[in-house]
Amino acid sequence: MFIGHFAVALAGKRAAPKTSLGTLLFGAQFLDLLWPPLTLLGIERFSIVPGITVLTPLDFESYPISHSLLMSVVWGVLIGVIYFTRRRYRAGAIMVAIAVVSHWVLDWVTHRPDLQLAPGLDTRVGLGLWNHPAASIGIETVMFLLAVGSYVTQTRARDAIGRFAFAGFILVTALLYVMELNAPPPPSWRVVAWSGVALWLFVLWAAWADRHREVSHGEAARPVTTVGTQ
Ligand SMILES: [Zn+2]
Repeated sequence: MFIGHFAVALAGKRAAPKTSLGTLLFGAQFLDLLWPPLTLLGIERFSIVPGITVLTPLDFESYPISHSLLMSVVWGVLIGVIYFTRRRYRAGAIMVAIAVVSHWVLDWVTHRPDLQLAPGLDTRVGLGLWNHPAASIGIETVMFLLAVGSYVTQTRARDAIGRFAFAGFILVTALLYVMELNAPPPPSWRVVAWSGVALWLFVLWAAWADRHREVSHGEAARPVTTVGTQ
């Protein structure tokens, strides 16, 4: 799952209007932000096995620290608590924590049975939606479009950056998804891991665009007086 995780962040703005889209995306993609560095350090492992699922050739051999159910809950609670101690914004803390765990749930739907419930447990789970391309692409695309619609109707651009940085963020994300669907299997796991590191740039991009937008109605529509992203 790729743009489905972005959808959770975009839609999460409704539950936590005062939280930056960058923070929400950091939560929704945290497991995938953690995973490339862990593989490059040799702590987690995957390989390229063309055909292992219809949509992706990645064989996730071992990734219990970034992608087990137990650890996703641990990361979610930890990040939620850190956020709350810094911002004192309960709705945001809860939404960010839910976003972190949602990543595991969405991966569970899409991956073949390669996800562990906890480090050390042999059971592997995954519903394998990646073996049903039409359903997989359809569901993810609908989620993404609905979430973009939700974010766009909830916020408005303060200036040109708020308009164009956000539009660029959405377009590049969608384009990457389409390119990835049509790309040949990557040459090595290292290429995948290093390009995965680039996901951090999307978090910064989302935070930057969000800072130039404001919630257009409701309780959070009052001007934000704190400095920095929330
Ligand atoms: Zn993942």
